[in-house]
Amino acid sequence: MAGLTAAHFLKEAGFDVVVVEKENRPGGRVISVHKDGDVLDVGAQFLHSNYRLTLELTTKFNMASDLVQMQDDDMIMRDGRAHIIPWGSVRIPAVSIWSQLKMARLFIPIFLRKANMALEGWPGLLDLDKLELATYARLKLNNESLEYVVRPLMLTYSMSEPEGISLAYFLRSLYMYVTTKAYCFRSGNDVLAKTMSKNLDIRYESPVKKLLKGAKGEICGVQTSSDELEGLAVISAVPSPALFSLYPDWNREQSAFLQDFTFSKMPLVLFEGKIRDTITYWGGVFDRRAGHRVSFVTYPHRKYTNACKANYLLAWSMGSFGEELLDLPDEGIAEAVAAELRKAIPADADSLKPVSIVRHHHTFPQFKVGMFEKLLHFRVSEGQPAGLYFAGDYMEGGIIEGAVQSGYKAAQRLIAACS
Ligand SMILES: Cc1cc2nc3c(=O)[nH]c(=O)nc-3n(C[C@H](O)[C@H](O)[C@H](O)COP(=O)(O)OP(=O)(O)OC[C@H]3O[C@@H](n4cnc5c(N)ncnc54)[C@H](O)[C@@H]3O)c2cc1C
Repeated sequence: MAGLTAAHFLKEAGFDVVVVEKENRPGGRVISVHKDGDVLDVGAQFLHSNYRLTLELTTKFNMASDLVQMQDDDMIMRDGRAHIIPWGSVRIPAVSIWSQLKMARLFIPIFLRKANMALEGWPGLLDLDKLELATYARLKLNNESLEYVVRPLMLTYSMSEPEGISLAYFLRSLYMYVTTKAYCFRSGNDVLAKTMSKNLDIRYESPVKKLLKGAKGEICGVQTSSDELEGLAVISAVPSPALFSLYPDWNREQSAFLQDFTFSKMPLVLFEGKIRDTITYWGGVFDRRAGHRVSFVTYPHRKYTNACKANYLLAWSMGSFGEELLDLPDEGIAEAVAAELRKAIPADADSLKPVSIVRHHHTFPQFKVGMFEKLLHFRVSEGQPAGLYFAGDYMEGGIIEGAVQSGYKAAQRLIAACS
């Protein structure tokens, strides 16, 4: 979405743009599969109502009527019991009233920094970025809140455990969770990428191997697996770890950021089967304390009313489990995940048949303690080498809107440099 957005705005400004894409389809982490007439999102799941630029593009590309509001119940499992939480609710029945009251404390820093809680506001949160979420939750809340509220929110919202994560990042996500509504596209969330790509010159299955340097050290093009493409400038819209090996001369700030900045990774397994009618929520988090390793499951047929004809379960193997599975062959992944599901939800597990496995090497960027500051230095160092601009969700916030805004801003910087 970062690359497509950058290309769209550059083309609109009159530039000749070529998009160079490793895969054979547009959309990157926004990916949908089609099965017997059902459309199933196996990458990004929803757009929030505060995705200003994404929603503007949706209207511009005549896709607004395809948007539908998602159903709003989630679930947290504790000791084998499902506790339902309506979307955005701050009342979490999985924990005691005392813990719920303690949770209210999280809203004090949010309230005091309300102006910085929007996506663009993070440079004003550098002090909160020095605090680790898990430690903060243990000290200011309690263990019950950490295990049954903070951990599930982190797992579902940014696919990582709270250990090592920046408090600033969590509070910003929490603020979005309680203040927005969620939408998805009926035709699959990749429909916007597909529509945008129709107007662009995209070279598919062309992985970039190297950034090309001109006589003065400026970036003047890319070398792909089959070609060399030269141009006025390059906007890099790949996840930051994929960028590191493409250029040997990153400066100190850039190396510090690119080396330390990671993305959580996991395979996502889509199953079809008989799912109990008593499951009325879209997604649920399993109890880590009870030893469940598949932390999150979602039910695509419950995304909104009449979303699918068949019943599905999407299993999210996050954290160390996801990393262990990522490079196994498909059968190994499906078997390991199915074995976990048999422990967690035996009533449904026996009927499940794997439909699709998607390996996500980059799910969400991990904003660990201190990363906002490193990102700030990284951004200040942009312009070196000349001719290279950065876009991608790691630049603005690990969500579709972050990617879209980063692409827009990179295009604007390039346009300004050329005028
Ligand atoms: C399972 C999952 C669920 C998610 N859920 C949500 C959600 O509900 N809501 C939300 O807003 N966000 C969600 N996200 C995050 C969201 O998908 C991303 O933040 C956003 O799509 C990132 O866009 P991007 O353009 O920065 O990167 P990407 O989508 O990763 O795009 C990078 C592109 O670069 C290409 N590429 C990489 N290396 C090379 C190379 N060497 N040469 C050429 N091309 C290359 C890739 O193939 C890809 O097309 C989710 C992500 C995942 C994985």
